[in-house]
Amino acid sequence: MKKIDLSILKTEITGTDIAANLNRLITHFAGRVVFTTSFGIEDQVITDIIFRNDIDIDVVAIDTGRMFEETYKVHANTLKTYKKPIRVYFPERDDVEKLMTEKGPYSFYNSVEYRKECCHIRKVKPLGRALEGKRLWVTGIRSEQSPGRSSIGHLEYDEGHRIFKYHPLFDWTLQQVEDYLKKFHVPHNELHYQGYVSIGCAPCTRAIKPGEDFRAGRWWWEDQSGKECGLHEK
Ligand code: SF4
Repeated sequence: MKKIDLSILKTEITGTDIAANLNRLITHFAGRVVFTTSFGIEDQVITDIIFRNDIDIDVVAIDTGRMFEETYKVHANTLKTYKKPIRVYFPERDDVEKLMTEKGPYSFYNSVEYRKECCHIRKVKPLGRALEGKRLWVTGIRSEQSPGRSSIGHLEYDEGHRIFKYHPLFDWTLQQVEDYLKKFHVPHNELHYQGYVSIGCAPCTRAIKPGEDFRAGRWWWEDQSGKECGLHEK
């Protein structure tokens, strides 16, 4: 497989001014840049940077249909605060109807295979539509969120989705994220301060206890290794 050279792109990312980096990357990719938000605290920082600086990036969200009520409140508050559009992608109706008819509403608790099937229908397929025609995908990934993520860096090429990725908060600490939210009065999910450090679908997310790994609250009934949903490979 041909190795993708990231060196030219790396010259577009200098210093800590994320807004400036994003604007250079938009020019580089002729506007074909997308940012996906799950309304988690990292994503809210990036949303704030994009919207407050009028950066011309499509902000999109995947609504799996199984979100927390608190997440919808952040969504609504974000629209109210910035008065900017967030494009929402839903799963395909036929897929969800088949899944629910054949396996019921909690199939994901029965096996990893069924859990991946649900994630594929509710997240991965709508994400594929959101990424169509885009060349750069901006994400809220931080290195300390997962051991597999610590080596990727600010920039990577995602072979699976065939797209470049930029993680502007890659080396931020949790404290930096929380400080930013406070400083700029950014709308955020109240569950975050109740132990929910990584917030996904309601039936698949629980609060973590002090000392537990960042991702211990996601799919906690499964083996702890390799707990990704297919959105990001690491
Ligand atoms: Fe389905 Fe749970 Fe995956 Fe959400 S996180 S798509 S409910 S398996």
